[in-house]
Amino acid sequence: MVLPLARRALLAGRRRLPRPAAAPRPDRRLSPLSLARVAGPPCWAPSPLPSAPLPTAPAARLCSGAGDPAEAAGEDGAMLRHLARKLRASGPVTVAEYMREALTNPGQGYYTRRGGVGESGDFITSPEISQVFGELIGIWYISEWMAMGKPNTFQLVELGPGRGTLTEDILRVFKQLASVLSKCDVSVHLVEVSPKLSEIQAVTLTGGKVQPNPEDELAYMKGISKTGIPISWYRDIQDVPPGYSFYLAHEFFDALPIHKFQRTEKGWREVLVDIDPQVPDQLRFVLSPSRTPATQHFIQPEETRDHVEVCPEAGVIVQRLASRIEKDGGAALVADYGHDGTKTDTFRGFRNHRLHDVLSAPGTADLTADVDFSYLRKMVQGKTATLGPIKQREFLKNMGIDLRLQVLLQNSGDTATREQLLHSYDMLMNPEKMGDCFNFFALLPHHRLVHPDKKDKSESKSPLPPVAGFNELLLK
Ligand code: SAH
Repeated sequence: MVLPLARRALLAGRRRLPRPAAAPRPDRRLSPLSLARVAGPPCWAPSPLPSAPLPTAPAARLCSGAGDPAEAAGEDGAMLRHLARKLRASGPVTVAEYMREALTNPGQGYYTRRGGVGESGDFITSPEISQVFGELIGIWYISEWMAMGKPNTFQLVELGPGRGTLTEDILRVFKQLASVLSKCDVSVHLVEVSPKLSEIQAVTLTGGKVQPNPEDELAYMKGISKTGIPISWYRDIQDVPPGYSFYLAHEFFDALPIHKFQRTEKGWREVLVDIDPQVPDQLRFVLSPSRTPATQHFIQPEETRDHVEVCPEAGVIVQRLASRIEKDGGAALVADYGHDGTKTDTFRGFRNHRLHDVLSAPGTADLTADVDFSYLRKMVQGKTATLGPIKQREFLKNMGIDLRLQVLLQNSGDTATREQLLHSYDMLMNPEKMGDCFNFFALLPHHRLVHPDKKDKSESKSPLPPVAGFNELLLK
């Protein structure tokens, strides 16, 4: 049964090399840096609607006549130069298009060129803070695999794996529980657009022994993990082969492009990005002069907020996950900061662990927006059941983080290591740090939560095991 095994995993092993004690992306409420060029109050304010109305874009693009905004900005100005040319030629773009260019443009996008996850980068994530995070997620997958009847094969599919740290920690748990998984054929599939980060992932997970562009495959790279598990890399979830799969998306959905909408006296308008005609090397937000196709599609008639962000790409991906799980089985775990359809202006940038003006030096900073879990739930369209969002500190507590911490503390000899363990626990769990603003959300086949023949009320049915994390992980 899963329970003693989970206990074994929690009690197993020693601590690996210490991870850096860096700060996570600062909580907006705790770090009220000024985003001077963003119209309206800063994004941590409860009602971030612009106090000064945004200018309206000219209906037809008039060339400002100003010089190239980023001509003198050097290497880091390449993206701004590219965007300025584009804006001048064809007018303002949606925030989604701006974000897509700034983050994943194949030449100069932030993730393509830099992708600064980790202490030496621009933002730190939970798996980079503590090995315990990934270990508990590894236990979650084993627990679900057992609860679903131990299928003899599964794919672990991670979307946006960053430095590969989370998968590495999960694979260590799989190795510790190798006797349990011995009859199961496990493979790892990573969906990553960044060539730079996929190289780092290859080093983390395989020691760099990978085969680029394998023949007859949709994968762009293949290798074998240090623990002997085959790993393949793809650019798109649709390239991952079908099959029973456990999906993982940690701080992935928040990196996908959002559309922003503003309620005005004339109705809903889309927020666009344009060149500032007054200041040649700057971009600015403007409002669309009329409704845009996105306004028509994405604003619900019953919407009560005055400012709304929608991430259609997240909707499409979650729909794909739900369809795949419905057809082939498995589960998806999504962890991110977000809200349940209540927040308004959450678009922000991070550079060197500090808030960064989203319109300044595009391509050099991480751009992100809170995940709207209510939208994800809606886009699942009932194909699977959903659980959550539940706060990170509750999920990790349910998964047994306290026991794991105790074991690691007992096994560590020196004070510095113990302090570092306690510090990372605090980062993950403290409601003022990452404990409350990060959430866990899961997609599970309906039969995992409700007996398919629920109308049959016969007493003989054994109860379905609770889903760990969303309920306490039972250890006895
Ligand atoms: N999950 C990691 C990294 C989060 S950063 C962690 O928690 O540490 C976001 C990750 O998503 C990066 O690996 C980035 O390159 C990747 N990414 C961003 N947009 C993507 C897209 N459209 N398709 C696939 N990967 C993407």
